[in-house]
Order: sequence, then structure tokens, then C-alpha cells
Amino acid sequence: MADFGADVDIEAFRGEARAWLEANFPASLKGKAALATGESKSSHPDIVAWRRTLGEKGWSAPTWPKEYGGGGLTAAQARVLGQEMARIGAFHPSMFGMGITMIGPTILDYGTEEQKKKHLPPIIMGEVQWCVGYSEPNAGSDLASLQTRADDAGDSWKINGQKIWTSGAQHSDWCGLLVRTDFSAKKHEGISFLLVDMHQPGIETRPIALISGASPFCETFFTDAVAPKAALLGQINVGWTVGKRLLQHERASQTGGSMGGRGPKPLNEIAKAYLGVDGEGRLADADFRTRLVRHEMDARVHGQTLMRAAAEARGNNSPGNAPSVLKNSATNVAQIRAELTLELMGSQGLGWDGANYSHDEVEAVRSWLWGKAMSIYGGSAEIQNNIISKRILGLPDNTQST
Ligand SMILES: Cc1cc2nc3c(=O)[nH]c(=O)nc-3n(C[C@H](O)[C@H](O)[C@H](O)COP(=O)(O)OP(=O)(O)OC[C@H]3O[C@@H](n4cnc5c(N)ncnc54)[C@H](O)[C@@H]3O)c2cc1C
Repeated sequence: MADFGADVDIEAFRGEARAWLEANFPASLKGKAALATGESKSSHPDIVAWRRTLGEKGWSAPTWPKEYGGGGLTAAQARVLGQEMARIGAFHPSMFGMGITMIGPTILDYGTEEQKKKHLPPIIMGEVQWCVGYSEPNAGSDLASLQTRADDAGDSWKINGQKIWTSGAQHSDWCGLLVRTDFSAKKHEGISFLLVDMHQPGIETRPIALISGASPFCETFFTDAVAPKAALLGQINVGWTVGKRLLQHERASQTGGSMGGRGPKPLNEIAKAYLGVDGEGRLADADFRTRLVRHEMDARVHGQTLMRAAAEARGNNSPGNAPSVLKNSATNVAQIRAELTLELMGSQGLGWDGANYSHDEVEAVRSWLWGKAMSIYGGSAEIQNNIISKRILGLPDNTQST
């Protein structure tokens, strides 16, 4: 991997990235990231082509090693690539499933050479969709209480049990699954992590219908499902360690404030449109003005802390516990922004669809609702606080669930 520590090299890389993106990103997709998001991978022909082009370059997984098809970039280069993509309205076309953000990095950390060669290239090329099977009806925050079991069946594992809230399971090809392999051990010590093929009769996914009509996640049932012995990621009964690492990668991908709650326009523009301005050109409502400024300051501080954390990591891709702080602060920023936006819109911020509401108004409502999930998935805000208290501040341990 090239050492691009010096600014001059970074600027050289910026030029390279800019030229490549300008030559390869389809103009027809500019600013149309929504085409690439959703519960399953898009089959839009331009997205399919862009996914292949970016994958072949390795830049769909910019920091992964080149030997597995990744970009081999440093963290600093990857940030520059992201900036250059944003600059021209380009986007990552593989933003479905959890291969790039969670499973792939965990396989890089704990996988055998065979697992890396088998699983990483198709993730990079956007050919497979992954889901994560952690939560169960009686094991959410207290994840280590999970009961789905994998029994040794000679040359394979036999899996039985139920997961819930499995995002995208109905569209997934593979699942990163936490199972219990030793029922006599302490609850954190009898867990293993399996890489399970979803295309088999022993796995049934039942999509959970939401009030919105969408079904982003499933109940997932395992009845004598099978995985080969080679599907074990990391060591047997040490899956808790592997599973925690995946959660750190998940949180690291959720620290940017780019999830629910972000609107299409800057908040001050929305405020001017709905509240109007006074004689000096300031927002007409002094109280709202104060709260808006406070929010903008929080957002700025979050952004700068994110940059500082990235700089301090100095290219080390291991996520550690800092993402727990950043996930909570990203969530606060996004949720407060969503609240302020709806407040500005007043009764226009109540619409779900229909001609009485503009596109932006409907999006603001949906974004506000979706933003509520941010403080639940990837470990709730309270669980992040427990991790911060225990692992960062060194306060006494009063919970077994983190
Ligand atoms: C949009 C979305 C997508 C999801 N996708 C997936 C997925 O793909 N795969 C998957 O496995 N799971 C997924 N989940 C599930 C998610 O991980 C769990 O919902 C989450 O971990 C909380 O578990 P729970 O729902 O059982 O709530 P509980 O654990 O029952 O918690 C209920 C409340 O109690 C609080 N609480 C619980 N324990 C403590 C404690 N020790 N200290 C302080 N407060 C506590 C929680 O913070 C929460 O407010 C998803 C959830 C959402 C909302």
C-alpha cells in the first residue's frame, strides 16, 4: 500500500481520483444516490454498470487490500475519494446489505485466507448481499443471551433457532450469524460466528410489515439449516469477540450523520422559507434562531470531532470504542435536525403523501420517522452510553450486556 502521508501526495491522489471519477461516473446518475439504496441491490442498468466499474477499480472498498480486489488506499486517500465523489454528485453503488460496512471488515480482521478469497471479491463487485443475524426475540441489548444453536454434525454445523429484525434477510445471499455452540459455558463464552449461505431449505425469512408498508427486516427461522465447518469465522466459542468487532465496524459506519434526519436543503434555507426574515435579514423567530445556531454548532463540533478521530487513527482501520461516542452524537445531530425541520413546517410537516404536501415536506416526515431507528439499531443509545462508561471512562461495570 502506498504511503500517502504527505499533503503533496494527497493532492496528487485527489487529482487522480477526480480525473478517474470524471471519466467513469455516469452523468445520468449524478445526484441520484436514491437509485442505489433500498432493501435490495438495484438492477437499474446505469447502477449495474457503475457498480461494476467502481468494483473493478477496487474503490467500492477503498481501504481493503488489493490482493482481494480492494483499492489498497490509505484512510486519508479514502476520505479524499469520498470528498471527490460528493463534489460531483457521485455515490457508492453497493449501499445495500452489510457486506462493505460490516461483514467484509470483520472477515478481514478474523477470516482465514480461504474465507477472504471466497467472500471479499464478490462483496467488492456488489454481486452478493449480506445480512447480519444477531438479535433474537429474547436477545436484543442483552445479545449474549442468544439461543440459536449450532450443533456439530461431523463435517458441518446444524443450525436451529430464530432471529428477528434481520435487515434485508429476504434479499440476502449470505448471513453473518451469531449462534450458541456451547450451552454449558458462561453466556459470553459459548458463542460462535458463522458465515451462512441463505439459499437453502432450512432457512425461512418472514418480512415484518411496517405501518409505512415497507418491510426492511425479517423474522428469520433456522430449521436444521446447514453450514460447512469452514463457515466458522474466528475460533469456536470465541464468537462474542468477533461479533463485537462487527458491531464496532457497524457503529463506525454510522458516525457521519448521513443517516435519517438529513434533509435535502440546509436548515437555514428551510427556516427562511417557512418563517421569513426580519428587517435585518435575520430569521423572524428569535427563539428558533437561537436553537438553530445551537444545532449548527453541535453539527460542526460533531464533524470536527469525526475528523480529529480519523486523524488520530492515522490510517489504523481498527474501529475501537470511539464510534460509540460518535454514533450517539451523529444520532443526536440528525434527530434534532429532523425535529427542527418538522417544527418549521408546522402542519405541512405532518403529511405522508398526497398533493397537499411538497416532495420535501413528505421527505422530511419520512426522514424524521426513520431517524428514530438510529438510536436503536447497531446497539441502542443507552447501550452505547454503557460502553462509553465502561470501556472509555473506566467507570464501574454495572451491566453484563455490553
Ligand atoms: C432499523 C433497524 C434495523 C435492525 N437491523 C438488525 C439486523 O440487521 N440484525 C440484527 O440482528 N438486529 C437488527 N436490529 C435490532 C437491533 O439491534 C435491536 O433492536 C437493538 O439491539 C435493541 O434490542 P431490542 O429491540 O431487543 O430492545 P431491548 O434490548 O429490549 O431494549 C429496550 C430498551 O431498554 C434499553 N436497555 C436495554 N438494556 C439496557 C441496559 N443494560 N442499560 C440501559 N438501557 C438498556 C434499551 O436501550 C432500549 O431503550 C435492527 C433494529 C432496527 C430498529
